[in-house]
Amino acid sequence: MALQSTLQKIANKVTKRAGPRVLSVKKAYYLTPNMIRITFAGPELEGFPTGCEGGNCKLIIPEPYETKDLFTNRLENGDRSVRRTYTVRHYRKDAQELDIDFVAHGDNGPASRWAMNAREGSFIGFAGPSGPKVTHFEADWYLVAADPSAIPVAAATLEAMPRDAKGVALFEVTSLDDKQEINAPDGIDIHWIEHTDPSKNSNAQNKFIRSLDWPEGRVQTCIAGESHVIRSLRAFLQHDRQVAKKDLYISGYWKIGLIEDEHQAFKRAEG
Ligand SMILES: Cc1cc2nc3c(=O)[nH]c(=O)nc-3n(C[C@H](O)[C@H](O)[C@H](O)COP(=O)(O)OP(=O)(O)OC[C@H]3O[C@@H](n4cnc5c(N)ncnc54)[C@H](O)[C@@H]3O)c2cc1C
Repeated sequence: MALQSTLQKIANKVTKRAGPRVLSVKKAYYLTPNMIRITFAGPELEGFPTGCEGGNCKLIIPEPYETKDLFTNRLENGDRSVRRTYTVRHYRKDAQELDIDFVAHGDNGPASRWAMNAREGSFIGFAGPSGPKVTHFEADWYLVAADPSAIPVAAATLEAMPRDAKGVALFEVTSLDDKQEINAPDGIDIHWIEHTDPSKNSNAQNKFIRSLDWPEGRVQTCIAGESHVIRSLRAFLQHDRQVAKKDLYISGYWKIGLIEDEHQAFKRAEG
Protein backbone atom coordinates (compact mmCIF):
# COMPACT_ATOMS: atom_id res chain seq x y z
CA MET A 1 0.00 0.00 0.00
CA ALA A 2 2.77 2.45 1.01
CA LEU A 3 4.68 1.65 -2.19
CA GLN A 4 1.54 2.17 -4.29
CA SER A 5 0.94 5.52 -2.57
CA THR A 6 4.53 6.66 -3.16
CA LEU A 7 4.36 5.60 -6.81
CA GLN A 8 1.10 7.53 -7.23
CA LYS A 9 2.70 10.67 -5.78
CA ILE A 10 5.72 10.28 -8.08
CA ALA A 11 3.41 9.73 -11.06
CA ASN A 12 1.52 12.91 -10.20
CA LYS A 13 4.76 14.88 -10.05
CA VAL A 14 6.10 13.42 -13.31
CA THR A 15 2.92 14.16 -15.25
CA LYS A 16 2.60 17.52 -13.42
CA ARG A 17 -1.04 16.56 -12.89
CA ALA A 18 -2.09 17.27 -9.35
CA GLY A 19 -3.86 14.38 -7.66
CA PRO A 20 -7.30 15.08 -6.27
CA ARG A 21 -7.47 17.77 -3.63
CA VAL A 22 -9.44 17.06 -0.50
CA LEU A 23 -11.59 20.14 -0.04
CA SER A 24 -13.34 21.25 3.12
CA VAL A 25 -16.76 22.83 3.31
CA LYS A 26 -16.94 26.33 4.71
CA LYS A 27 -20.64 26.87 4.10
CA ALA A 28 -23.55 24.80 2.76
CA TYR A 29 -26.95 26.33 2.15
CA TYR A 30 -30.02 26.16 -0.06
CA LEU A 31 -29.51 28.81 -2.72
CA THR A 32 -33.07 28.04 -3.88
CA PRO A 33 -35.49 25.27 -2.80
CA ASN A 34 -33.87 22.63 -5.05
CA MET A 35 -30.28 23.87 -5.32
CA ILE A 36 -27.58 23.65 -2.67
CA ARG A 37 -24.57 25.91 -2.85
CA ILE A 38 -21.46 24.52 -1.22
CA THR A 39 -18.59 26.90 -0.56
CA PHE A 40 -15.24 25.18 -0.12
CA ALA A 41 -12.36 27.10 1.42
CA GLY A 42 -8.88 26.62 2.74
CA PRO A 43 -5.24 26.15 1.79
CA GLU A 44 -6.09 23.04 -0.27
CA LEU A 45 -7.24 25.54 -2.91
CA GLU A 46 -3.71 26.96 -3.23
CA GLY A 47 -2.83 27.19 -6.93
CA PHE A 48 -6.42 26.68 -8.09
CA PRO A 49 -6.68 28.20 -11.58
CA THR A 50 -8.69 31.37 -12.09
CA GLY A 51 -11.13 31.82 -14.98
CA CYS A 52 -12.47 28.25 -14.82
CA GLU A 53 -16.08 29.15 -14.02
CA GLY A 54 -18.27 26.91 -16.17
CA GLY A 55 -15.52 24.28 -16.45
CA ASN A 56 -16.22 20.86 -15.03
CA CYS A 57 -14.56 18.84 -12.34
CA LYS A 58 -14.78 15.37 -10.87
CA LEU A 59 -15.91 15.11 -7.29
CA ILE A 60 -15.02 12.02 -5.34
CA ILE A 61 -17.65 11.35 -2.74
CA PRO A 62 -16.52 9.99 0.64
CA GLU A 63 -18.31 7.03 2.19
CA PRO A 64 -20.44 8.09 5.17
CA TYR A 65 -18.15 6.16 7.58
CA GLU A 66 -14.87 7.60 6.27
CA THR A 67 -12.81 10.03 8.31
CA LYS A 68 -10.89 12.69 6.42
CA ASP A 69 -7.62 10.82 7.03
CA LEU A 70 -8.99 7.50 5.78
CA PHE A 71 -10.46 9.21 2.73
CA THR A 72 -7.23 11.12 1.97
CA ASN A 73 -5.23 7.89 2.19
CA ARG A 74 -7.65 6.12 -0.11
CA LEU A 75 -7.30 8.87 -2.74
CA GLU A 76 -3.50 8.83 -2.43
CA ASN A 77 -3.66 5.10 -3.07
CA GLY A 78 -5.48 5.76 -6.32
CA ASP A 79 -9.00 4.66 -5.35
CA ARG A 80 -11.26 7.43 -6.68
CA SER A 81 -14.69 5.85 -6.42
CA VAL A 82 -17.43 7.17 -6.31
CA ARG A 83 -16.95 9.98 -8.85
CA ARG A 84 -19.45 12.52 -10.15
CA THR A 85 -19.12 15.45 -12.55
CA TYR A 86 -19.90 19.01 -11.44
CA THR A 87 -19.25 22.59 -12.56
CA VAL A 88 -17.12 25.33 -11.06
CA ARG A 89 -19.63 28.09 -10.32
CA HIS A 90 -17.32 30.69 -8.75
CA TYR A 91 -13.73 30.80 -7.60
CA ARG A 92 -12.61 33.74 -5.47
CA LYS A 93 -8.83 33.65 -5.50
CA ASP A 94 -8.24 36.23 -2.78
CA ALA A 95 -10.51 34.45 -0.33
CA GLN A 96 -9.49 30.98 -1.61
CA GLU A 97 -13.14 30.05 -1.91
CA LEU A 98 -14.83 27.83 -4.45
CA ASP A 99 -18.60 27.49 -5.01
CA ILE A 100 -20.22 24.42 -6.52
CA ASP A 101 -24.00 24.23 -6.92
CA PHE A 102 -25.65 20.82 -6.44
CA VAL A 103 -29.15 19.95 -7.55
CA ALA A 104 -30.85 18.48 -4.49
CA HIS A 105 -32.63 15.68 -6.36
CA GLY A 106 -32.96 13.38 -3.34
CA ASP A 107 -30.92 10.79 -1.52
CA ASN A 108 -30.94 8.32 -4.44
CA GLY A 109 -27.56 9.59 -5.68
CA PRO A 110 -24.36 9.79 -3.62
CA ALA A 111 -23.51 13.33 -4.75
CA SER A 112 -26.95 14.77 -4.12
CA ARG A 113 -27.10 12.91 -0.79
CA TRP A 114 -23.65 14.19 0.19
CA ALA A 115 -24.65 17.79 -0.59
CA MET A 116 -27.92 17.49 1.33
CA ASN A 117 -25.97 16.38 4.40
CA ALA A 118 -22.94 18.66 4.01
CA ARG A 119 -22.04 20.95 6.87
CA GLU A 120 -19.08 23.15 7.76
CA GLY A 121 -16.11 20.76 8.00
CA SER A 122 -17.50 18.12 5.60
CA PHE A 123 -14.99 17.10 2.93
CA ILE A 124 -14.89 15.82 -0.64
CA GLY A 125 -12.29 14.88 -3.28
CA PHE A 126 -11.84 17.27 -6.22
CA ALA A 127 -10.06 16.61 -9.52
CA GLY A 128 -9.77 19.20 -12.29
CA PRO A 129 -11.06 21.67 -13.29
CA SER A 130 -11.33 21.85 -17.07
CA GLY A 131 -11.50 25.23 -18.77
CA PRO A 132 -14.83 26.95 -19.45
CA LYS A 133 -17.12 25.32 -22.03
CA VAL A 134 -17.60 28.39 -24.21
CA THR A 135 -14.41 30.38 -24.66
CA HIS A 136 -15.06 32.60 -27.67
CA PHE A 137 -18.06 34.82 -28.24
CA GLU A 138 -18.36 35.69 -31.92
CA ALA A 139 -22.02 35.12 -32.71
CA ASP A 140 -24.76 37.47 -33.81
CA TRP A 141 -26.95 35.91 -31.14
CA TYR A 142 -26.76 33.26 -28.42
CA LEU A 143 -29.06 30.45 -27.41
CA VAL A 144 -28.66 29.21 -23.86
CA ALA A 145 -30.82 26.47 -22.33
CA ALA A 146 -30.45 24.58 -19.12
CA ASP A 147 -32.22 22.40 -16.64
CA PRO A 148 -31.15 22.71 -12.99
CA SER A 149 -28.00 20.57 -13.44
CA ALA A 150 -26.76 22.97 -16.11
CA ILE A 151 -27.67 26.30 -14.51
CA PRO A 152 -24.04 26.62 -13.31
CA VAL A 153 -22.55 26.27 -16.80
CA ALA A 154 -25.26 28.42 -18.38
CA ALA A 155 -24.93 31.15 -15.77
CA ALA A 156 -21.12 31.20 -16.02
CA THR A 157 -21.39 31.44 -19.81
CA LEU A 158 -23.90 34.30 -19.64
CA GLU A 159 -21.68 36.11 -17.17
CA ALA A 160 -18.65 35.75 -19.45
CA MET A 161 -20.45 37.07 -22.57
CA PRO A 162 -19.69 40.51 -23.98
CA ARG A 163 -22.11 42.99 -22.45
CA ASP A 164 -23.60 43.81 -25.86
CA ALA A 165 -24.47 40.16 -26.60
CA LYS A 166 -28.01 39.37 -27.72
CA GLY A 167 -30.05 36.22 -27.53
CA VAL A 168 -32.32 33.97 -25.54
CA ALA A 169 -31.76 32.00 -22.34
CA LEU A 170 -34.21 29.37 -21.20
CA PHE A 171 -34.12 27.78 -17.76
CA GLU A 172 -36.30 24.82 -16.89
CA VAL A 173 -36.57 24.53 -13.12
CA THR A 174 -38.42 22.30 -10.68
CA SER A 175 -40.21 25.26 -9.13
CA LEU A 176 -40.37 28.90 -10.17
CA ASP A 177 -38.93 29.60 -6.71
CA ASP A 178 -35.69 28.14 -8.15
CA LYS A 179 -35.13 31.28 -10.23
CA GLN A 180 -31.68 32.74 -9.61
CA GLU A 181 -30.14 36.14 -10.19
CA ILE A 182 -27.88 35.84 -13.22
CA ASN A 183 -25.67 38.64 -14.43
CA ALA A 184 -26.54 38.23 -18.11
CA PRO A 185 -26.15 40.95 -20.75
CA ASP A 186 -29.24 43.16 -21.07
CA GLY A 187 -29.79 41.90 -24.62
CA ILE A 188 -30.40 38.33 -23.45
CA ASP A 189 -34.07 37.54 -23.00
CA ILE A 190 -34.35 35.24 -20.00
CA HIS A 191 -37.26 32.80 -19.62
CA TRP A 192 -37.97 30.47 -16.70
CA ILE A 193 -40.28 27.51 -17.11
CA GLU A 194 -41.40 25.00 -14.51
CA HIS A 195 -41.20 21.21 -14.72
CA THR A 196 -42.19 19.94 -11.31
CA ASP A 197 -41.16 16.29 -11.65
CA PRO A 198 -37.63 15.92 -13.06
CA SER A 199 -37.94 12.11 -12.93
CA LYS A 200 -40.40 12.41 -15.84
CA ASN A 201 -39.56 13.46 -19.39
CA SER A 202 -40.24 17.05 -20.32
CA ASN A 203 -40.92 18.49 -23.74
CA ALA A 204 -41.01 22.11 -22.61
CA GLN A 205 -37.54 23.21 -23.78
CA ASN A 206 -38.05 21.54 -27.14
CA LYS A 207 -41.41 23.21 -27.64
CA PHE A 208 -40.03 26.60 -26.69
CA ILE A 209 -36.88 26.40 -28.83
CA ARG A 210 -38.56 24.88 -31.85
CA SER A 211 -41.14 27.66 -31.88
CA LEU A 212 -38.62 30.50 -31.49
CA ASP A 213 -38.75 33.26 -34.03
CA TRP A 214 -35.25 32.36 -35.28
CA PRO A 215 -33.15 35.51 -35.76
CA GLU A 216 -30.87 35.95 -38.77
CA GLY A 217 -27.14 35.42 -38.42
CA ARG A 218 -24.67 33.20 -36.65
CA VAL A 219 -25.79 31.57 -33.41
CA GLN A 220 -23.67 30.00 -30.68
CA THR A 221 -25.21 27.78 -28.05
CA CYS A 222 -24.63 26.74 -24.48
CA ILE A 223 -27.16 23.99 -23.83
CA ALA A 224 -27.01 21.16 -21.32
CA GLY A 225 -29.28 19.02 -19.22
CA GLU A 226 -31.20 15.76 -19.29
CA SER A 227 -30.13 13.45 -22.10
CA HIS A 228 -33.49 12.86 -23.83
CA VAL A 229 -34.05 16.60 -24.11
CA ILE A 230 -30.51 17.17 -25.35
CA ARG A 231 -30.71 14.47 -28.00
CA SER A 232 -33.82 16.04 -29.51
CA LEU A 233 -32.46 19.60 -29.32
CA ARG A 234 -29.18 18.52 -30.90
CA ALA A 235 -31.04 16.99 -33.85
CA PHE A 236 -33.07 20.17 -34.30
CA LEU A 237 -30.05 22.48 -34.13
CA GLN A 238 -27.78 20.44 -36.36
CA HIS A 239 -30.26 19.23 -38.96
CA ASP A 240 -33.15 21.68 -39.04
CA ARG A 241 -31.23 24.84 -38.16
CA GLN A 242 -27.84 23.82 -39.60
CA VAL A 243 -25.92 25.30 -36.67
CA ALA A 244 -22.21 24.67 -37.25
CA LYS A 245 -20.69 22.10 -34.92
CA LYS A 246 -18.03 24.56 -33.74
CA ASP A 247 -20.78 26.92 -32.55
CA LEU A 248 -22.60 24.25 -30.55
CA TYR A 249 -21.95 23.49 -26.94
CA ILE A 250 -24.67 20.97 -26.23
CA SER A 251 -24.24 18.17 -23.76
CA GLY A 252 -26.27 15.59 -21.85
CA TYR A 253 -25.45 16.07 -18.15
CA TRP A 254 -27.57 13.23 -16.74
CA LYS A 255 -30.22 10.79 -17.82
CA ILE A 256 -33.47 9.83 -16.15
CA GLY A 257 -33.14 6.40 -14.49
CA LEU A 258 -29.35 6.04 -14.90
CA ILE A 259 -26.58 6.75 -12.44
CA GLU A 260 -23.74 8.84 -13.84
CA ASP A 261 -21.43 5.90 -14.71
CA GLU A 262 -24.24 4.26 -16.68
CA HIS A 263 -25.03 7.52 -18.41
CA GLN A 264 -21.38 8.04 -19.40
CA ALA A 265 -21.24 4.47 -20.77
CA PHE A 266 -24.43 5.16 -22.72
CA LYS A 267 -22.91 8.34 -24.20
CA ARG A 268 -19.73 6.48 -25.22
CA ALA A 269 -21.79 3.74 -26.86
CA GLU A 270 -23.81 6.36 -28.78
CA GLY A 271 -20.54 7.89 -30.07
C1 LIG B 1 -19.96 18.35 -17.52
C2 LIG B 1 -21.03 18.16 -16.43
C3 LIG B 1 -21.22 19.15 -15.47
C4 LIG B 1 -22.21 18.98 -14.48
N1 LIG B 1 -22.38 19.97 -13.55
C5 LIG B 1 -23.33 19.84 -12.58
C6 LIG B 1 -23.51 20.84 -11.57
O1 LIG B 1 -22.75 21.83 -11.47
N2 LIG B 1 -24.50 20.67 -10.66
C7 LIG B 1 -25.33 19.56 -10.68
O2 LIG B 1 -26.21 19.45 -9.81
N3 LIG B 1 -25.17 18.59 -11.61
C8 LIG B 1 -24.18 18.70 -12.53
N4 LIG B 1 -24.00 17.70 -13.47
C9 LIG B 1 -24.91 16.55 -13.42
C10 LIG B 1 -24.47 15.52 -12.39
O3 LIG B 1 -23.19 15.01 -12.74
C11 LIG B 1 -25.50 14.36 -12.41
O4 LIG B 1 -26.76 14.86 -12.07
C12 LIG B 1 -25.11 13.21 -11.50
O5 LIG B 1 -25.82 12.08 -11.93
C13 LIG B 1 -25.41 13.48 -10.03
O6 LIG B 1 -24.91 12.40 -9.28
P1 LIG B 1 -25.72 11.75 -8.06
O7 LIG B 1 -24.74 10.92 -7.33
O8 LIG B 1 -26.46 12.80 -7.32
O9 LIG B 1 -26.80 10.81 -8.78
P2 LIG B 1 -26.54 9.42 -9.56
O10 LIG B 1 -26.08 8.37 -8.63
O11 LIG B 1 -25.71 9.68 -10.76
O12 LIG B 1 -28.04 9.08 -10.04
C14 LIG B 1 -29.02 8.56 -9.12
C15 LIG B 1 -30.42 8.81 -9.70
O13 LIG B 1 -30.69 10.21 -9.69
C16 LIG B 1 -31.10 10.66 -10.98
N5 LIG B 1 -30.54 12.01 -11.21
C17 LIG B 1 -29.24 12.34 -11.46
N6 LIG B 1 -29.11 13.66 -11.62
C18 LIG B 1 -30.34 14.19 -11.48
C19 LIG B 1 -30.86 15.51 -11.56
N7 LIG B 1 -30.07 16.58 -11.81
N8 LIG B 1 -32.18 15.69 -11.35
C20 LIG B 1 -33.02 14.63 -11.08
N9 LIG B 1 -32.58 13.33 -11.03
C21 LIG B 1 -31.26 13.13 -11.20
C22 LIG B 1 -30.52 9.62 -11.95
O14 LIG B 1 -31.27 9.54 -13.15
C23 LIG B 1 -30.60 8.33 -11.14
O15 LIG B 1 -31.87 7.76 -11.25
C24 LIG B 1 -23.02 17.82 -14.45
C25 LIG B 1 -22.78 16.81 -15.41
C26 LIG B 1 -21.81 16.98 -16.38
C27 LIG B 1 -21.58 15.87 -17.40
